Amino acid sequence: MSARGHAHRHSDVGCITRKRRFRDHQEAVHALHGAQQFARLDIESSGSTKRAECRTYECYACNGWHLTSQPAPGAVAA
Ligand SMILES: [Zn+2]
Repeated sequence: MSARGHAHRHSDVGCITRKRRFRDHQEAVHALHGAQQFARLDIESSGSTKRAECRTYECYACNGWHLTSQPAPGAVAA
């Protein structure tokens, strides 16, 4: 009798940051582009938006990807 059967799957586990989690960079970028399009529509229709996501980052807590509105650390404003 085998007791095997508790497969460890990370894919459905949320993140301690409580942010929306994406499995890989491509998925996060896709969501970022969608969010930025919504932001543009918000600004066009109401003059402002709550969607401030500007980049993706890899999360060490969950090995997934998230969106953030924080500028990249060390980014130099030209
Ligand atoms: Zn995470």
